Amino acid sequence: MPQTRIKTVLPQLVILLIGGAIGALYGQILVGLLIASLGLLGWHSMQLFRLERWLRTGEIIKLPDGNGIWPRAFARIQYITERASRNRNNWRSLIKELRTSAKAFPDGGIILNSNHEIINYNKAARRMLGLKKKRDRGQRIDNLIRNPVFVSYLESDETRDGVDIPGLAGEDSWLSCRMIPYGPGQRLLLIRDITQRIKLERVRSDFVANASHELRTPLTVISGYLDALADDDQLPDAWAGPIKDMCQQAERMNLLVDDLLELSRLESSEPGSMETSVDVVELLRFLQKEILVIDEHPETIELRLDSQAKLLGEEAEIQSIAANLVFNAVRYTAPDGRVSIRWHVDDRGGHLTVEDTGMGIAPEDIPRVTERFFRADSGRDRRRGGTGLGLAIVKHALKRHDGELEIASSLGEGSKFVCHFPRSRLIVDE
Ligand code: ADP
Repeated sequence: MPQTRIKTVLPQLVILLIGGAIGALYGQILVGLLIASLGLLGWHSMQLFRLERWLRTGEIIKLPDGNGIWPRAFARIQYITERASRNRNNWRSLIKELRTSAKAFPDGGIILNSNHEIINYNKAARRMLGLKKKRDRGQRIDNLIRNPVFVSYLESDETRDGVDIPGLAGEDSWLSCRMIPYGPGQRLLLIRDITQRIKLERVRSDFVANASHELRTPLTVISGYLDALADDDQLPDAWAGPIKDMCQQAERMNLLVDDLLELSRLESSEPGSMETSVDVVELLRFLQKEILVIDEHPETIELRLDSQAKLLGEEAEIQSIAANLVFNAVRYTAPDGRVSIRWHVDDRGGHLTVEDTGMGIAPEDIPRVTERFFRADSGRDRRRGGTGLGLAIVKHALKRHDGELEIASSLGEGSKFVCHFPRSRLIVDE
């Protein structure tokens, strides 16, 4: 028998024996045993009452001493209660720390349920959106942020890229909103104040636009004199080469200034009505003819027009998208290579594909080719006469038409650039 049981049972047997012995002295063993049993029962009941009172009120004056079952039971319960209280305190301080760090977090965080209703938010979110606890908890977030770009982002269940929207605080404030899946059916809306970044971008873009504009007049004068000199029959032979080089460089600078101005315009101006019906088929046919006239390389330029659908947009911008892609394809393809242009429509929308069998782009460079002045191979590409801005222009112009650029390429085999336009931008004649 384990020690505890012996220590519990033995004293009780001794008490019963003593009760029985005293009873025997008076010739009443049973009465002696009964009185001893009643005494034991009373003592156990008293311990039970103490235990019940302790559990009910949490008050205990003194724990029972000794090694029997009751002192051990009391000690065990006291240990469990103290451990639970220690755990509770740990959790409390953890929650407090989390709350403090959420408060200190400079970005706004709002927890939304599956109906886009606000469950909770931090201090930064309260400040950025002017939220009020009683009024706004349980409100749908699109009742507070009514910007259409945000509303369609919210409804799209899209979590990859966020959206930038004007802030609620005032004219020049901007917020970046991003949704992150969070718990079952919930989403965390992260809001960042990007006013400063937008301001800096504007300053940079204005500077580039102004500088390019200022460069234009002197460049025109220089180009004019250089052209006149190049056409002068009396020019000494030794000058012919340098003047030709200067003419080429002046032409390159002119192209650069044009592209810089075009990019600034695309970045800074609001998309216009973008409702002109642009005849893509006619535009591509014209482009093909233009290239065959301008370009010295006899690459095969193949045109596949699988649809007569027109595009709703800005003609000059769509022209610029197609021209940049086609001129690049010609520029980066050897004279015996092939360039193909295709326009087709399917369930997802309209697709303009420009494919070549040229030198291709290394996989690590593909994500960067739409950056300004990025060149996959700077020496090689500069000699080919590009400005380094063509694909940046394509990306921005496409964005203004709700389109996307897809690039697939492998070194030495060729490249494929596809512009995807949504169905909402198509005019398809039945
Ligand atoms: P660039 O004026 O230098 O052509 P772009 O912005 O049009 O500038 O293109 C950026 C870079 O992407 C180019 O310098 C070139 O390295 C690469 N690139 C673009 N189009 C092609 C293509 N069709 N084939 C191979 N490389 C290309």
